[in-house]
Amino acid sequence: MIIFDAHLDLAWNAIDWNRDLRLNCEQIRKLESDAGLTDKGRCCNTVTFPDLRRGKVVIFIATLLPRLLRIGAMPAIQRYASMPAAYGAGYGQLAYYRGLEQEGLLRQIKDAKGLDTHVRQWKEDENSQTLPLGYILSMEGADCILRPDQVQEWFDAGLRIVGPAHYGVSPYAHGTGTEGGLFERGPELLREMERVGMILDVTHLSDQSFDEAIEIYGGPLLASHHNNRTLVPNQRQLSDEQTKKLIARGAVIGHALDIWMMHPNYIRGETKVNIPLEKICDHIDRVCQMAGNAKHAAIGTDLDGGFGREQSPHDLDTIADLQRIPDMLRKRGYSEPAVEEIMHGNWVRFFRDTWKKQVDSAAEGRVER
Ligand SMILES: [Zn+2]
Repeated sequence: MIIFDAHLDLAWNAIDWNRDLRLNCEQIRKLESDAGLTDKGRCCNTVTFPDLRRGKVVIFIATLLPRLLRIGAMPAIQRYASMPAAYGAGYGQLAYYRGLEQEGLLRQIKDAKGLDTHVRQWKEDENSQTLPLGYILSMEGADCILRPDQVQEWFDAGLRIVGPAHYGVSPYAHGTGTEGGLFERGPELLREMERVGMILDVTHLSDQSFDEAIEIYGGPLLASHHNNRTLVPNQRQLSDEQTKKLIARGAVIGHALDIWMMHPNYIRGETKVNIPLEKICDHIDRVCQMAGNAKHAAIGTDLDGGFGREQSPHDLDTIADLQRIPDMLRKRGYSEPAVEEIMHGNWVRFFRDTWKKQVDSAAEGRVER
């Protein structure tokens, strides 16, 4: 079965971590070990292109993640001292994806027609060694959008999703680990996103930013990598109330495999506990129970988000192990169509419907004028 992963930081890994993702995980681990690299997440990565292909993870949301420097945030993502520098770095990361497209390794997906072609080709040949992997471009934190009126420029460059915040505060909104709502230019950013057809990713918004954003923004919503707060009490996760609001708006929620988001009271770098991959099914199931169907829960692993095997389920070696999730869901009584929806169908439907609606309304607009 093909798999859709809604959150991978591939360009950040390739450029900031200097990893050649065309090698497999074992090769990169060895190179990093031979080079004596000992930082957190080194020598134990779980995501590369060969491993994605082996796991049939043939379509994913890939991010631009050029973070502004923020006092108190995680060192690994403290980086640029100014927004123009983040803007430049954003285009640098985009150029990485474009380079891989030129090598035939990746294919950018930005409309319903491209999406349908990609999914059809892969379903016809799940073991293909030649078809490109597909990515939808997203921006995690809006640090490289210099002004709200620049959203159009990024859309024209292929960007389809923006999460206005990340850890800490962004220029537009309070994010994970902070209290507060949108900043002065936040509402304008959201209105411009809606006008242009940019999808809003609510992941990493603070609670107040979440409420304000979904009030102002009337377009399609998703949560790319987000688990459940009742199971893991932390503001980083979605409360049941937030989940219900997202379901009511037709959103899809991707579930993450970072174990501090899967298990309560886990302290990064300190807690030693074996969390099995199966645990993610508790979070998926909770969304399905709330919705009364399997149409809103999906996968968004974040497996290359600044950690490796040390902070992943103990029985996961690489991202190819996602192929074990379908059987876990079947054992819990999920029907075959429901398993397919969770593993890829919900994301495919979400993007197809969103993009078809945009084309239809643009066509109507032309007729009216
Ligand atoms: Zn994230």
